Amino acid sequence: MEKLLCGVDIGGTKLSTTLVQCDGTVLDKCIDCDHVNKKENELVEKIAGNVNMLLRKNRLTESDLLGIGIGCAGHIRFRDGVIITTSNLKGYKNYPLRDEVQKHFGIPVILDNDANAQAFGEFKFGAGRGYDSMVFLTISTGIGAGIIINNRLYRGMTGTAGEFGHTIVEPDSELTCTCGNRGCLMAVACGMALPHLFRKKIGEGKKTKLDLPPGFDFNKVDGRLLLQGLEIDDPVSKEIILDSAYYVGIGIYNIFQALNPPLVVLGGGLMSWGDFYLDQIRKTFYGLARDMIFDPFEIAVSRIGPDVGVIGAASLALELC
Ligand SMILES: [Zn+2]
Repeated sequence: MEKLLCGVDIGGTKLSTTLVQCDGTVLDKCIDCDHVNKKENELVEKIAGNVNMLLRKNRLTESDLLGIGIGCAGHIRFRDGVIITTSNLKGYKNYPLRDEVQKHFGIPVILDNDANAQAFGEFKFGAGRGYDSMVFLTISTGIGAGIIINNRLYRGMTGTAGEFGHTIVEPDSELTCTCGNRGCLMAVACGMALPHLFRKKIGEGKKTKLDLPPGFDFNKVDGRLLLQGLEIDDPVSKEIILDSAYYVGIGIYNIFQALNPPLVVLGGGLMSWGDFYLDQIRKTFYGLARDMIFDPFEIAVSRIGPDVGVIGAASLALELC
């Protein structure tokens, strides 16, 4: 039997564990929602327990697995398997999660940043199939990314390469990023910027067609609300979506100039804005790149869907092959 992959995605609300076939099909999975307040050692026990439970349930043993990949948001020192910092969990400063989980298993355990994991999943099983290099961008509350060069993730010195969300696209912006700088791509273009942008447009006297309750808290403005706005042709929602697309287009242009990949794949919640969003991203990119594209280049949308985090984590074991 062909070996299986095991993926663990440590999210901000869910801890997902899956068994995945080598073609990317999910065989079985389990989801916990009580992991966020767990201490480090309790989380390790939980991860090991979930993997063993899935193996038992499917009459498998760990020798049926190629490896266990773990994806976690935050800064990961890849070569040491250490979480430097993570915003998804409390504590976990310089925590050697990989080695702690490895103590429970004889097969390889790999720990990487969640966006790197998603990127590799998309590369192996999604829109990146058939390419040897690509860049993946996930656009949701924040912006994460992963770089694949010649069939391998490019991680840089520490393991934090591809933090395109913190590249600066508008230095004079009034929007401050989680990192403290002004005008980072993720500060101006993604979910965390939406409340500010909405409040600003309303403050400028623009009228929304959205039916908002009296005293509506603008901090609740998110991608889903703007999607409703897009569907009813709300001018405020549409302007914000176009602004976001403009900055993402600039981001892709910068990536194109730095790395010259043949493919950029876009994923994340804000891609639900669909072609209206994507068309403007492409328009901005091609307007900047003009006659500097000498070979086929594509901007594509993620094909894996909502399980990309955990399927991506599972795919990390394939990088060892
Ligand atoms: Zn930043």
